[in-house]
Formats: sequence, structure tokens, C-alpha cells
Amino acid sequence: MENCLFCKIVRNELPSTKVYEDDKVLAFNDIDPKAPTHILIIPKKHIASIAALEDEDCDLVAHIIRTAKQLAAAKGLDNGFRLVVNTGRDGGQTVNHLHFHLLGGRAFSWPPG
Ligand code: 5GP
Ligand code: ZN
Repeated sequence: MENCLFCKIVRNELPSTKVYEDDKVLAFNDIDPKAPTHILIIPKKHIASIAALEDEDCDLVAHIIRTAKQLAAAKGLDNGFRLVVNTGRDGGQTVNHLHFHLLGGRAFSWPPG
């Protein structure tokens, strides 16, 4: 069993505010939101990052992106949103379980800092 923060959230060993769940993915509110809507969408299976993806995970990633689209619509993010996957040290990843940030409800600048 993985000793991983987000795996513990998947197993309900740690609390989270869930917004969507099925057999493959879980979506929950970020504990430190950076926008009015800030949802983390994760695979239930432990995958460390985009860099650790296997070819067999492609359908799972597509399912996560479809979930992001559905949640964005459900949250009324009609003006747009941002889907972010920080990866590795330079990417700013702090939790080593793949997660997609769904951010919306305000305009975002580009490029990132
Ligand atoms: P990263 O920096 O790895 O891209 O994103 C990790 C995200 O996880 C951060 O936005 C952080 O606020 C969030 N986070 C860290 N610990 C917890 C937690 O225990 N619960 C929830 N809901 N979010 C967390
Ligand atoms: Zn994990």
C-alpha cells in the first residue's frame, strides 16, 4: 500500500471535500485554493507524475481530462479555465501522485512565474 498523501485521500484515511468520484478517478477541492474554483483531479491508481506515465495509462489520462471538462461545465466556468499538471522539481510538483489542477472563476496571467 502506498504511503502517499493522495493515496490516503483515495482510501478515505484522510478527509477531503470530494466533488466527483468513480471507479478510476477522484476529484476534490484543493486545501489551499488559488482561484474561486480549484479542484484536484487524480487517478485512484498511484502514478507519481506525468513523467512516470506508462502507455497503458493513456485511457486513464483521457478520462481525467474528460472529467475536468465535465466539472468545468458543472461549475459554470463558461469564460474558460486552466488545467495544470506541475511535474517534477522545476515544474513545481509538491505531491508525488499525479494530479490535474482545474482552476477557474478568474482570469489567469501568462507566462507562469
Ligand atoms: P502541486 O504543487 O504538487 O502541483 O500541487 C499540490 C496541491 O495539493 C497544492 O495545490 C496543495 O494545496 C494541495 N494539497 C496538499 N495537501 C493537501 C491535502 O491534504 N488536501 C487537499 N485537499 N489538498 C492538498
Ligand atoms: Zn499515491
